[in-house]
Amino acid sequence: MSLFDNHFTAALSERETAGTRRTLRPVVRQDGMIVRDGRRMLDVSSNDYLGLADHPLLRERAADWALRFGTGARASRLVSGTLDLHRQVETKMAAFKGCEDAILFASGWQANASIMPALCALSVARTGAPMLVFSDRLNHASLHHGCAAAGVRQIRFRHNDLFHLESLLNHEAEKPGLRMIVTESVFSMDGDRADIPALRALADRAGAFLYIDEAHATGVLGPKGRGLSCGMADLTMGTCSKALGGMGAYVAGSKPLCDYLANHASGFIYSTALPPAVLGAIDAALDVVPSLDEERTQLLGQAERLRTMLHNAGLSTADSTTQIVPVLIGESERAMTVAARLEDAGFLTVAIRPPTVPAGTARLRLALHAGLKDAAIDRLGQAVIALTRDIA
Ligand SMILES: *Cc1c(COP(=O)(O)O)cnc(C)c1O
Repeated sequence: MSLFDNHFTAALSERETAGTRRTLRPVVRQDGMIVRDGRRMLDVSSNDYLGLADHPLLRERAADWALRFGTGARASRLVSGTLDLHRQVETKMAAFKGCEDAILFASGWQANASIMPALCALSVARTGAPMLVFSDRLNHASLHHGCAAAGVRQIRFRHNDLFHLESLLNHEAEKPGLRMIVTESVFSMDGDRADIPALRALADRAGAFLYIDEAHATGVLGPKGRGLSCGMADLTMGTCSKALGGMGAYVAGSKPLCDYLANHASGFIYSTALPPAVLGAIDAALDVVPSLDEERTQLLGQAERLRTMLHNAGLSTADSTTQIVPVLIGESERAMTVAARLEDAGFLTVAIRPPTVPAGTARLRLALHAGLKDAAIDRLGQAVIALTRDIA
């Protein structure tokens, strides 16, 4: 019993009534399939895009580093938690991203949520005026959270609409303060890409710092899986928990940027350093990822195959050009029903509903991973097409 249990229960039943209550549903993984409530399904809901969470080299190095160096880092990075291993992995990450330096965080959420206030504080300290933050409307919750924690009001531009961004930059041109453009290179709900060279040109014209979240591009897109922003962003961040198959996150950029964050990002300063096992997995992922060109080509080819099937049946996949393929359904309930029926048919997908996406654009999010065979893609496409026709 806790003092607030009656309040908790009331809040949960409001969710229940609104049809938005969530529950945690355990899964197990067996022979490349996911099993939930006794049902075996093909997993097209998770973000292990290259299958590295199962890769022998990552498992081995994670286990080896845990055995050799222990299970915990024992302190925060600035106290006595920095091991040679952290610097080794950061140096390797910087080389992978083609940047001068890199700095690791415990998670992507933690990185965004604590970097944003650190950068916004820079504007106040250096100019006396708040940071002007121009952000894509569809940015990840952690970026919004960081802005809220910084107490800045975001200047939001319509998703991937660089004309809108340019007009907002012009509109604020006379305002004091530093300015920053914040966006993702691949959007998690739409699977579309930002035009990074055009963003760089706009940022240069406006004197704005360019902050790119590469959570879904890292490992999958760009030369050798390096992402889409190499050499073009002032700050690139990404997570090691998606295509890199592990946990943790990185920021890559200049050495002064990384040093500044080590001194000013609360989530870095006041959190214990990543443990050896996690570092081992990241280190091994960085060895493996550059060699996976064939897997990347195959993955993107299968996404294209799936989109073509869905388009031929009159379905919309929005502007997806990546391994993330949304199927627009419209009403929330219909999306939920299609997702449930897909589970019966042996596919675990996820229905994404408002408020995560705009009203009337509820969708299935199909996240493909390397190694899916033509036959599996065809069965998935046929099931989606049949069920969206059946369920009015
Ligand atoms: C998943 C995700 C994050 C958070 O990364 P974690 O390491 O899972 O905390 C941040 N940004 C975007 C765009 C994401 O999709």
